[in-house]
Amino acid sequence: MNIGIDLDGTILKTDEFVLNDLNQYYGSKYKQEDIYCPHIEKALCMDREVVKMFVKTTLNLTHLIKPIDGIPYYFNKISSANDVSIISRRDPDLYGITKMALDKLGLNDYLLYLTLGKKSDIINAKDIKVMVEDSNEEIDEIIKNSDCQAILIDRPWNRDYTDNHRIPVRTWEEAYEAITTIQTRQLDS
Ligand SMILES: [Mg+2]
Repeated sequence: MNIGIDLDGTILKTDEFVLNDLNQYYGSKYKQEDIYCPHIEKALCMDREVVKMFVKTTLNLTHLIKPIDGIPYYFNKISSANDVSIISRRDPDLYGITKMALDKLGLNDYLLYLTLGKKSDIINAKDIKVMVEDSNEEIDEIIKNSDCQAILIDRPWNRDYTDNHRIPVRTWEEAYEAITTIQTRQLDS
């Protein structure tokens, strides 16, 4: 089965890294749980340009960002049995930096796609059946423009959704189980 996996907030604790820098800069003590909505500057009442600057710095330091719990173990379990594409809305200029960091993290057998366009374009071109995401905005776009199923990995900023067009999971272990269930169902049909 072809599977897509988002990068920032899904594989990497990018938010934690940005938040540490912002806390140092502002002298604040915000925790990840305080990021109740997808836009850090809105959730924490910070200057948009400052946040943008720290996000940019963080992405250039991808090799220092820690992985989400369960990565690389569950990622490699999934990629050993499926065709996995990491699909990120990062600037394609960051390809080299990103690829190097992910290989260093021990992720195996995947293709990396960085796009400033729609994720659904890649999902349709690659016939991806399942996408693992932390962003409800991205999932909304994917569901609208493709037949891909979406697994939403729980983060403080994505709990505010009202439809049932996504499979919510709390951990990478649960994401792995959800993928296995979808796979079994496909084989049965
Ligand atoms: Mg993300």
